[in-house]
Amino acid sequence: MRALICKEPGIFEYQDLSEPKLEPGYSILSVKRVGVCGTDIHAFAGNQPFFEYPRILGHELAASILETTDPDFEVGELVTLIPYFNCGDCVACNQGKGNCCVRIKVYGVHIDGGMRQRIAVPNEYLIKAPGLDLDALALVEPLSIGQHAVVRSGLKPGEFALVVGAGPIGLGLMEMARLAGAQVIAMDVNESRLGVCEQKFGIKYLINPAKEDALERLKEITNGNMPSVVFDASGSLKAINQAFQFLAHTGRYVLVGLQKEYISFSHPEFHKREATLMSSRNASKQDFAQVIRYLQSGQVNPVHYITHRYDFESIAEKFQQISQPENACIKAIIELD
Ligand SMILES: [Zn+2]
Ligand SMILES: [Zn+2]
Repeated sequence: MRALICKEPGIFEYQDLSEPKLEPGYSILSVKRVGVCGTDIHAFAGNQPFFEYPRILGHELAASILETTDPDFEVGELVTLIPYFNCGDCVACNQGKGNCCVRIKVYGVHIDGGMRQRIAVPNEYLIKAPGLDLDALALVEPLSIGQHAVVRSGLKPGEFALVVGAGPIGLGLMEMARLAGAQVIAMDVNESRLGVCEQKFGIKYLINPAKEDALERLKEITNGNMPSVVFDASGSLKAINQAFQFLAHTGRYVLVGLQKEYISFSHPEFHKREATLMSSRNASKQDFAQVIRYLQSGQVNPVHYITHRYDFESIAEKFQQISQPENACIKAIIELD
């Protein structure tokens, strides 16, 4: 079977690998769609920290079951995968938080992933999603990242939530926050991305901090109170440090995007707000279930996210195009048959 291997940064190679064999506790899946994530783009570019090569990328998967040892699943059933393989026996796992397991192995990041025709995966990571088509299934994981951040923040209906960064994760986060009842404010330095927020996602409040006084605009929008929840989905050090000042008193600041440096902020400013700083990593099965409900009910429409499609045999050659700004890609999907 065909597999696409990232041999080293900048180099993809197709190889013919032997077929996976069915073992107890596992299922064999035929991979149908693979969403391209920022992680895949960084890994290919060689700027993903602690990344080992060669590696088969891909963790946003839609697949059908070819063979299974799990009586809850049927051959031919369409599924997705929760790609955070956890140890089951660490301080995080023991609290039911496999998303931040001490020994986590993310499928397609720490271990070989889904950019191949067939995979064998442990049954416990299969996710049922009746009624969802392949495109919707491939979006469940990236949208769950946003849903997890919303749950982490304890967002309540009516609160103002600022989302900094309108890439695919930020857009998903805005939609999850809106569905949780928040009044969402989008911030990005890229005008065309702000346009997407408004036109496709119905976000009313848009701020470009490169062009206007963000602090003043936030005061206007929130009647002087400032947003009670701020999410960073930019992964930009400058943006992360700057956004501390946007927090309301009592506010919560949730870091979703990741970067490599130390962050810094004024202790008195933070203290006087009695603010909370937290990170949000991956997602839980409950987050997956909520996103699946939103997709099943039509409250979330995959068409708003998927802007580009590539077939499996041409993706190696075209991979670099995906992240080029003029391409204006939100989510690219690789199609296998
Ligand atoms: Zn991802
Ligand atoms: Zn663990």
